[in-house]
Amino acid sequence: MLVSAKEMLQKAKAGKYAVGQFNINNLEWTKAVLQTAQELNSPVILGVSEGAGKYMCGYTTIVGMVNGMINELGITVPVALHLDHGSYEGAKKCIEAGFSSVMFDGSHYPIEENIAKTKELVETCDKLGLSLEAEVGSIGGEEDGVIGAGEVADPKECKMIADLGVTMLAAGIGNIHGKYPENWAGLSFDTLDAIQQLTGDMPLVLHGGTGIPAEMIKKAISLGVSKINVNTECQLAFADATRKYIEAGKDLQGKGFDPRKLLADGTQAIKDTVKEKMELFGSVNKA
Ligand SMILES: [Zn+2]
Repeated sequence: MLVSAKEMLQKAKAGKYAVGQFNINNLEWTKAVLQTAQELNSPVILGVSEGAGKYMCGYTTIVGMVNGMINELGITVPVALHLDHGSYEGAKKCIEAGFSSVMFDGSHYPIEENIAKTKELVETCDKLGLSLEAEVGSIGGEEDGVIGAGEVADPKECKMIADLGVTMLAAGIGNIHGKYPENWAGLSFDTLDAIQQLTGDMPLVLHGGTGIPAEMIKKAISLGVSKINVNTECQLAFADATRKYIEAGKDLQGKGFDPRKLLADGTQAIKDTVKEKMELFGSVNKA
């Protein structure tokens, strides 16, 4: 059964570790993430962007697939199914479809409008027992066509949004979606520290987890980050392993063209990446 991300993130914040959000793209991806979480006895959040939602034939298809897998694979660790960077309309659709968690990304609205829309969604999610993530200060890079400049959030605005009763808060601290450029300035730990001091127990979310050095990840966790989003890194690992399989001519040997064989190395690469991240984030055996 899917659960809200609230309890797992409050435990993570108190225990000074982070739960990974791994974005899913298809059946193999979902299976790889769920199996690894179960093997490592770790809570997990499955992230779905609106673009990935369309690709996987809509939110109800995804809810059906994930619930089916939880049953068929005997998954007993806490699993939250979460909309990533949702629009206001997208968040409502996911709530209706049976997601257990949504993010409303109102960071591109003026702060007053972000507050008004977030407030309404807080009420809806509270009634249904779902978790809600809000965002202040856009996150750099491109995600599904949305280009953020990589702002650093205003801690006072973070406090205003946190006080609305959201479950977790994503704040821009110089993090970027996708690959980091050579001249990246790094995370702004002063900002993160100021945000945590104002928002107290609120679990903070770090987007754009791909390519942030391990030491910075650990420091961010020590300053209150309890959810870290990983997307690009799994995609790079999957593509790399699949390319190697084809370049080695394995699809031409025997029944190597069978998708169950063709995608096996890539799927294993996703599992290896998820394992590495769960170990780094400290969520192993915290289910
Ligand atoms: Zn993000």
